[in-house]
Amino acid sequence: MPPADPPADSAAASCGEPLPRVSAERTVSQSASPFAVRVSAPAKVNLYLEVGPVRRDGYHELVTVFQAVGLHDEVVASHAPSLRLAVHAMPAPGEPSGPGAPAGPSGVGVPGVPSDSRNLAWRAAELLAARHGIAPRVRLDLYKAIPVAGGMAGGSADAAAALLACATLWATGTSRDELAKMAGQLGSDVAFPLLGGTALGTGRGEVLAPALCTGRFHWVFALADFGISAGDAYRELDRLRATGRPARACAPDAVLDALRSGDPRRLAAAMKESNDLQPAALSLAPSLRRVLAAGRDLGALVGIVSGSGATCAFLAADEESAEQLAAALTTEGVCRAARVAAGPVPGARVLAPRGGRAPIG
Ligand code: ATP
Repeated sequence: MPPADPPADSAAASCGEPLPRVSAERTVSQSASPFAVRVSAPAKVNLYLEVGPVRRDGYHELVTVFQAVGLHDEVVASHAPSLRLAVHAMPAPGEPSGPGAPAGPSGVGVPGVPSDSRNLAWRAAELLAARHGIAPRVRLDLYKAIPVAGGMAGGSADAAAALLACATLWATGTSRDELAKMAGQLGSDVAFPLLGGTALGTGRGEVLAPALCTGRFHWVFALADFGISAGDAYRELDRLRATGRPARACAPDAVLDALRSGDPRRLAAAMKESNDLQPAALSLAPSLRRVLAAGRDLGALVGIVSGSGATCAFLAADEESAEQLAAALTTEGVCRAARVAAGPVPGARVLAPRGGRAPIG
């Protein structure tokens, strides 16, 4: 787990940039706010993803069903003279981390994840600070378990976590509704990891309505050793649609009914051809066909590309089957790693620091 104690600044891990200018320089009193806040935010899987026409703003109109799953990134926000950000791989259980820990994987960043203003979590801190007319004086430590460019909204989860962590650290009193609005401004997928659970998403995916889901679904995620950029997947879909007719999802009703029933077999049947981005992801990365076929052969109820890929998501009948499937996928060597995660799980939440109580419930 990431460090529960406040992280120390380390030249190796931090990447400070000049303090962004804000309209009014107001400093929130730090006496009432905690020294460090740790927030976790979940990954998502799209159980249904219908991609509509391109809108005037360049985004596609979406109808999607999100489910938050038990694979989390964590963000630790602590007071600092200016905005700084460091990215770490989530340490394995028992691995030493935090101040004074020897240099290792958790101190050297994560390939493909920027530690400057290109990081969505950085932008989240800036946006929240600007909204409250304060300077973004914070250090953000990101601990990543969600695969990068894996179609599981890892960057969006970090942004959602950063919004909540900074709001708590700075004691801004920002409501969840206001955070959700800011999330929608940061990116199409940022609002969902704040909310969590299961939800119907429309617009760019940022207009959310909670969906009823009974029971727990057991997923296996086959992680790839490459990523697919969501932009590339949408462009490929537009190209495929201009030249052919990839199957098109037509309504989320069957998926929503299955979620209400809590029956994984029903959900599996409803999820066949439920992701419009899958043909695009398979066109960009044909090797994913082998992963999907292996999952099905090894007993998954259904296998899909998660969002824009490159992760493949498999639904299992129960927890034990999920564990067996993950082990078999790993043994087959068709993916970099396989992770078991159940859903739905709650959205971003403040965690207690190690040996202490969460600053806010
Ligand atoms: P989505 O499912 O929302 O389309 P994704 O899970 O496929 O996204 P991300 O892991 O969010 O993809 O990363 C996409 C790109 O975003 C990365 O390649 C990286 O350049 C950039 N990025 C910015 N901030 C982050 C972050 N905090 N974590 C990961 N990537 C980030």
